[in-house]
Amino acid sequence: MSLRGSDLTQARRARFHGNNSIEVGQEVLPELAIGEVRVAVEISALCGSDKRLYRDGSVVVPGHEIAGRIVETSHDVPSCRVGERGVVYAPVFCGACASCAIGFTNGCLKLVELIGWQRDGGYATHVDVPVRCFVPIPDSMPLDVAVLGLDTVGTAAHGLRWAIQTRMRAVERVAVIGCGPLGLGVAAMSLDMGLPTPEVFDPIPSRLEAAMGVGARRLHDLDVENQFDIVVEASGSRAAREIAQRLVRPGAVLLALGESDEPFVIPANPRTRRTNLFTLRTFYFPMSEVEDNWAALSRVGPQLLSILGSPASLAELPEVFVSFSRGELLKPIIRFDEIG
Ligand SMILES: [Zn+2]
Ligand SMILES: [Zn+2]
Repeated sequence: MSLRGSDLTQARRARFHGNNSIEVGQEVLPELAIGEVRVAVEISALCGSDKRLYRDGSVVVPGHEIAGRIVETSHDVPSCRVGERGVVYAPVFCGACASCAIGFTNGCLKLVELIGWQRDGGYATHVDVPVRCFVPIPDSMPLDVAVLGLDTVGTAAHGLRWAIQTRMRAVERVAVIGCGPLGLGVAAMSLDMGLPTPEVFDPIPSRLEAAMGVGARRLHDLDVENQFDIVVEASGSRAAREIAQRLVRPGAVLLALGESDEPFVIPANPRTRRTNLFTLRTFYFPMSEVEDNWAALSRVGPQLLSILGSPASLAELPEVFVSFSRGELLKPIIRFDEIG
């Protein structure tokens, strides 16, 4: 069943050809597959990880921070879901394995696809997704705030929840290295979770400024070892990882959230050998945390959006990516306005 009055067989979609070339064009959509819904994209946020696809190209339509509305359902999905507002959960989890059975969907044992990476994503007017990846949002929440519940707040909150679980004593100091959207999400969520005011570092002054805006404090001494109980590495750069390894106290936790193609190296030196330390990696967030994330997002989301977000249209995507890849924009948010 589909919404009447609009053509749902076509979409405007962005193609990333590699070498920083993006083309937006009209395409015919394949028939909606069994178990899937067609989503009219209303908000699509840019993610730093898309810069790799901008450089190297992609066989699918990129974009994995998506919010919108269901406009069509396959025949096995109840048609009453047409019109629902929600966000798209990027990992296409199986829903049946031992991990999924306990709600640990980001640890799905059969995970092969991420929306926007291995199948078409949200730099498009429409995207088809498995119905289980469509997450309805509270009625009162604007879609541009809701989209921050994914990579920005969802990933940050999940990482922090795991970091807190490792703690055997009180957390006195929290550091965040890297103040891109994820680092800002971590700073906002540490405060929301009642952790000590996060101390933050980023070599780019405007990003540090943004972190002050969410309530963080500047981290002054990057050279002194053994300072922090939770150190969140939110950049993925080698320099940031080395700083994090220096700042973390024995018995503490280094949460490695930053994305990188480079291996995370734990050097075999006396400092790393003669210590107890959790080096923790988490990915995205499980469906079981979604309700808690909405509650947190209703508190921190509007402010985060005002600090991070810059609006753009799909047609502007090629130019926006130029500024975004130069680091001039924190989180461009593509808005689509043709939804009936
Ligand atoms: Zn992302
Ligand atoms: Zn699974």
